[in-house]
Amino acid sequence: MNAPNASGWRPEMGEAGAILPATVSGDHGLNLEEKLIFELAAPGTYGVDFDDADVAPAPALGKFLRKAAPALPGLTEPEVVRHYTRLSRQNYAIDLGPFPLGSCTMKHNPRLNEKVARMAGFADVHPLQPTQTVQGALKVITQLADWLMALTGMPAVAMTPKAGAHGELCGLLCIRAALTARGEERPVVLVPESAHGTNPATAAFAGFRVENIPATEDGRVDVAALTARLGPDIAGVMITNPNTCGLFERDLKTISDAVHAAGGYVYCDGANFNAIVGKVRPGDLGVDAMHINLHKTFSTPHGGGGPGSGPVVLSAALAPFAPLPFATLDADGVAHLVEEGDAHDHGHPNSFGRMTAFHGQMGMFTRALTYILSHGADGLRQVSEDAVLNANYILRELEDVLDAPFAAYGPCMHEALFSDNGMAEGFSTLDIAKGLIDEGFHPMTVYFPLVVHGAMLVEPTETESKAGTDRLIASLRSLAERGRAGDVTLKSAPHYTPRRRVDETLAARKPKLVWKD
Ligand SMILES: *Cc1c(COP(=O)(O)O)cnc(C)c1O
Repeated sequence: MNAPNASGWRPEMGEAGAILPATVSGDHGLNLEEKLIFELAAPGTYGVDFDDADVAPAPALGKFLRKAAPALPGLTEPEVVRHYTRLSRQNYAIDLGPFPLGSCTMKHNPRLNEKVARMAGFADVHPLQPTQTVQGALKVITQLADWLMALTGMPAVAMTPKAGAHGELCGLLCIRAALTARGEERPVVLVPESAHGTNPATAAFAGFRVENIPATEDGRVDVAALTARLGPDIAGVMITNPNTCGLFERDLKTISDAVHAAGGYVYCDGANFNAIVGKVRPGDLGVDAMHINLHKTFSTPHGGGGPGSGPVVLSAALAPFAPLPFATLDADGVAHLVEEGDAHDHGHPNSFGRMTAFHGQMGMFTRALTYILSHGADGLRQVSEDAVLNANYILRELEDVLDAPFAAYGPCMHEALFSDNGMAEGFSTLDIAKGLIDEGFHPMTVYFPLVVHGAMLVEPTETESKAGTDRLIASLRSLAERGRAGDVTLKSAPHYTPRRRVDETLAARKPKLVWKD
């Protein structure tokens, strides 16, 4: 095998073992090498020609008057366009192929959503416009809110949080406000091992002390351990359902009843709602607060493609503490915005405050409502059924070559969990993930959840066809066999990417944030 050349490219790229001629440009056909934008730049180059200013600098700027030109790269417009287009070709996207990143629900983003979101009445409005001029946009928010309440069986929803973790914070701030209103200080939040990592982080950020609850052998919350810990110091629990092992927490209603009896609240991490939408209503399971990731279940773009949106549905007990502002319809169907000044008039005096400056992610509301209306209630149920079917297909097709720790306990939900047990000495999950890049797929989620060794969490979503899922399975099967056999070429994967195995720890610990020291 040849050593990489100075630019990091392997001369034999494209054909293992064969030596191909080096190119002068550094490009290899459609595999393009790209420098940093500062290396491409030339001083004095601009995208636009400006006339020299004919006014003297404003004396009021005083010592703030700039003495040197800003350190911006000088490029022409075509150079900038090409730079970012070339970079985008070195990345992976849901529009290129399956993106089986477990827990993240990377599903197709329907183009109809994009078309509706770009309509001027939605795209070109401003949050400070008088409400009578934005009735349609506000009604999108209230109609989406109605759908989210109906799908979850909950009486209220806070639409403003801008991501799943932001929604978790919103839910915990509601819980804290409710406890304060009761005159109680409960410092502890219980988080099971099978919860998403953002849960303990959010609880700590909201000022609670986090205590862990162990998992049982079949990958679920240990109900006995949880109920044994309940008491007057417990503010509540945060339970991910379906959990990060891709399993449904069957005992959630029992847990909720016990937590309520002990005076606590139940936060449910609903980011995995994709697996149960149209099948289960979390409100029926005693949940007090749950965030919904519009960017997962309801297909709005994320992962570099767009901002998140994490509305939080609330029980009657927490609804009075929901954040402002929010949109409502009066008896005549006219939309109003409830804000601080008028909160009392609308019977909402106990709000804990604001999560965001304005109404939330308008563009994502429009896309999510378009998705919901184009599927209808029956279509949404079909979404969860197909997502679960695809994941179970992967689980059963691969359990003979990949260790599946919970497969013996029954079907999974929307994602299949494997471990690296059974790999040859020195081979691990990382090698399978890197090999998957060579196969033209985005890797699955790796080393999470922590409850199994070398976790691989594979989430196909409902938008993969049988043929597409079969291709993914065939690649994973081949990689698993190479890992079990100790194939050294897998150890050095990926072979076909512009950059190979980078030192991810060094990059995270000592990121280079400027192009020159
Ligand atoms: C994605 C996810 C989150 C966090 O959502 P963000 O929008 O990334 O903040 C929380 N919990 C689970 C289970 C998730 O999958």
